[in-house]
Amino acid sequence: TSNREAQYLTVLHTNDNHGRFWHNEKGEYGMAARKTLIDRLKNQADQNGHAVILLSGGDINTGIPESDLQFAEPDFKGMSLLGYDAMAIGNHEFDNPLHVLEKQQQWANFPLLSANILHANDRSHAYQPYTLIEKQGLKIAVVGLTTTDTAKIANPEYLGDLVFVDPAEIVESTVAAIKASHDVNVVIAVTHMGHYHDANFGINAPGDVTLARSIAPDTLDMIIGGHSQEPVCVDAQGRQDKLFAPGKACKPDKQNGVWIMQAHEWGKYVGKAEFKIENGIKTLISYELIPVNLKNNNGEFVNAYIEPDAKMKALLQPYQAFGEKKLKGSVGFVDGYLDGKRNTVRFKQSKLASLIIKAQMAAVGADFGLISGGGIRHSIEAGDVSYKDILKVHPFKNRITLMQWQGDELYKYLNTVTRFPPDSGAYLQYYGLSFDYSDGKLSNVMINGKPLDFNATYKMSINSYNASGGDGYPTLVNMAGYKATNLTDAQVLKQYLQTYSPIKVNLL
Ligand code: ATP
Ligand code: ZN
Repeated sequence: TSNREAQYLTVLHTNDNHGRFWHNEKGEYGMAARKTLIDRLKNQADQNGHAVILLSGGDINTGIPESDLQFAEPDFKGMSLLGYDAMAIGNHEFDNPLHVLEKQQQWANFPLLSANILHANDRSHAYQPYTLIEKQGLKIAVVGLTTTDTAKIANPEYLGDLVFVDPAEIVESTVAAIKASHDVNVVIAVTHMGHYHDANFGINAPGDVTLARSIAPDTLDMIIGGHSQEPVCVDAQGRQDKLFAPGKACKPDKQNGVWIMQAHEWGKYVGKAEFKIENGIKTLISYELIPVNLKNNNGEFVNAYIEPDAKMKALLQPYQAFGEKKLKGSVGFVDGYLDGKRNTVRFKQSKLASLIIKAQMAAVGADFGLISGGGIRHSIEAGDVSYKDILKVHPFKNRITLMQWQGDELYKYLNTVTRFPPDSGAYLQYYGLSFDYSDGKLSNVMINGKPLDFNATYKMSINSYNASGGDGYPTLVNMAGYKATNLTDAQVLKQYLQTYSPIKVNLL
């Protein structure tokens, strides 16, 4: 529009917090040091008369027991003190019942955005779609978007009537509507959709690159993302920069004129983008992923140590202390390592899965049991096991349920769930069950070592996530033989370890 002096905008960003309000054992990251860094960056910008905004690409929830058991209250309150202007709603924001997310919205003094989550019946927005921010004379629109994979990977128990619609379509109409009634200078999408180089999204829903390529030019200036949990840095050819490491330079991706930025995960970095805006033209003048007290392999900080902010420490310390107290102490013993790595539990039968399923079978008196491999989120080291170790394996607070049914119905069910391929979260882990395939047909089904009898009745343990359709498992919750308990997966595993320790890994 009118010719005027150049203006400047600094966009600060993080994503995929996953419960990391506190620093790790090595003293890396944490919101207290992040606060010192962000305050410093904001002051610098203020002194230069530049506008600053702070955004998060979502997935605040799930990953650290001290946070999970307090429903991420320290994380949302910490983000409020940090001064976030907005965040995208991530798939893990649906790990708890919706009333927990409502509580989290109250803890946050900034909006949780998503333009593409609608109510199924009237197609109305379930969450605030966008926010308008005015700083230093700049009008900035921020639109939130959430991966459509949420419908597939989040807990169907909690999704209710929510539907996740195509982000590209909705962002165009949303931005058009904003522009029709507001004179905005900058439009940003804050997303939780994942960045996949050259749009190779594989089995995932399309991410930020696809979005940037499929929208009309001038819809968005930049995408601040999350979900794929990577530093988005490209080389001169625009391919993934394999040389990026903490403290090194990072060039963000640019697709169809839209910058795409993501700051790895857990608050390890604060992304900092400085834009010059002149005659409507936005130029990226600098970009950095600033490490937050990250260490190299020799245990040295890669940048000058950032002193944790005292006010933030005072806010978070009581939550950390409460969590530690709840979680410490041994609940059992295992005589060997139980591998829960993603490359194990989503690919082949695992001892850790056997232990988990045995515990669930014992809790409901089942003949056999199953879970999807993707629900196992951590390994257990040999030796004493604490409740914290268990909650790392089972962060989702799923309840254990019993399904009682006849052999012929069970066969049909197994015919579906035994076919989920390796490398998917749905991949079946089972115990007390064996089977073969001949000519693509499910055969030789044995329950507890005995051939499946179509007329006999069987009791199967399963968690509430899979029973309500999670990971594409057939839904059981409305069937006659279904019975839920109030016991969570973590409680049941704890109970089992308390009763049967020492656990001999070779006997699992
Ligand atoms: P993000 O990248 O958003 O952190 P993620 O790590 O959960 O997502 P994936 O690694 O693809 O994403 O894992 C998804 C799998 O996690 C699902 O397929 C499912 O097996 C498991 N999962 C997700 N939510 C639950 C839940 N509430 N209960 C049990 N398993 C779950
Ligand atoms: Zn995610």
